[in-house]
Amino acid sequence: MADLSAELHKLRVENALLKKQVSLLTANGNLSENPTAISSGGYAGDAAASAFPEEVQWIAGARHSLSGLEIRRYSRQLLLPSFGIEAQQKLAKASVLVVGAGGLGSPVLLYLAASGVGCLGIMDPDSVELHNLHRQVIHSEAFVGELKVKSAAATCLAINSSLQVREYAFALEAANALEVISDYDIVVDASDNVATRYLISDACIVANKPLVSGAALGMDGQLTVYNHAQGPCYRCLFPTPPSQSACQRCADAGVLGVVPGIVGTFQALEVIKILTGVGEPFSERMLVFDALSTRIRTVNLRGRNPECAACGDNPQVDRRTLPEFDYEAFTSSPLCDAPPPRQQIVGEDQSITCRGYKEVREAHEAHLLLDVREQHEYAIAALPSSLNIPFSLLPQQRDAIVAAAEVTTSLGVKSLPVYVICRRGNDSQAAVNELRSFGLSAYDITGGFQSWVQDVDPNFPFF
Ligand code: ZN
Repeated sequence: MADLSAELHKLRVENALLKKQVSLLTANGNLSENPTAISSGGYAGDAAASAFPEEVQWIAGARHSLSGLEIRRYSRQLLLPSFGIEAQQKLAKASVLVVGAGGLGSPVLLYLAASGVGCLGIMDPDSVELHNLHRQVIHSEAFVGELKVKSAAATCLAINSSLQVREYAFALEAANALEVISDYDIVVDASDNVATRYLISDACIVANKPLVSGAALGMDGQLTVYNHAQGPCYRCLFPTPPSQSACQRCADAGVLGVVPGIVGTFQALEVIKILTGVGEPFSERMLVFDALSTRIRTVNLRGRNPECAACGDNPQVDRRTLPEFDYEAFTSSPLCDAPPPRQQIVGEDQSITCRGYKEVREAHEAHLLLDVREQHEYAIAALPSSLNIPFSLLPQQRDAIVAAAEVTTSLGVKSLPVYVICRRGNDSQAAVNELRSFGLSAYDITGGFQSWVQDVDPNFPFF
């Protein structure tokens, strides 16, 4: 690649020199005249300038490696006194690994490609899905079903064809992390799970790379820079992983598309600042963004922790131990954005499969269907003839549920069986236990709407 750009530069110089010769011959009347063609880039009205094409003039005085096209492309940032040619050349020589080509990675990659970073590594094992497009703006409809790395690389190269792009269509794992990260100057954590956050941070400590970390969920975002200028690492701040219940995912909690867009844009900014030495990187501080109030707070972080297992005075994580470290066991969460495994809380005698429940409906058996998802989820799509009471409201809605299940027959009042459904089949099991404590015959519809779509009705809009 370096050879190619050197060759290109040489050809441009030769081209400019040839143009100069032609212009001199033309001025001397030795060739047929076409002055406008030769001086088209020059300063009209200045005899000396029009005689020398602009490329020759800047080459003669320049002490940098930017071509005329590059100067034109990056002119608006070259014009910044604090940035200039020097910073632009640093970007051109730099390489950045972006782990995750999703909501955060999209703006990171778009801006780094546009700004003139020389080499981008894009890592993501997933394919583009329709529900990605509202926030993962690097991908387009044409790439739904294709690997995200392919889609992201194509977009980056469409923006800037001089870019070098490396694609990693697999997840970062303990076994491969050091090898991949070592090839880059800086790493961007645009991942979406806590296990990968620990792994990236540890690998950046061992490989001695700065890490620009971002997170976005719901209407909130966070940003900080780890392992830079003696600052802390992720483990310094969070030596113990959060409980699994505290780790929400976009797939469950939702996220407004523009929120990761804002955080990712901040990440791109921090990368450029660190690579160029321009400005003050956001180390030992955390930016906390609240989209609802459009408020940004800066929280000062503790410095490096001498007791830290990764970057402390006696680290336990090193080049030898890291590849063997089980990050999934450490964090009780997978190294990917998979939903947490379904728990089995109630017994088979208190469960019914989706197909079994379909038969109950088709046979018109008297029953109550209780949907325990949140009201806003129920409003998106639900089964007909269901009662929606969110799981968290079950205790206070006890009387209403018992009354809804009651029917009066010739033999008196009796309770109908209650079938309980939720999104993925975890809350519904807990609800069954709760309803049985009310004295009702409750049954869990196994796997919730996720299984309903797979086993019964693929047209039900699961989200
Ligand atoms: Zn640390």
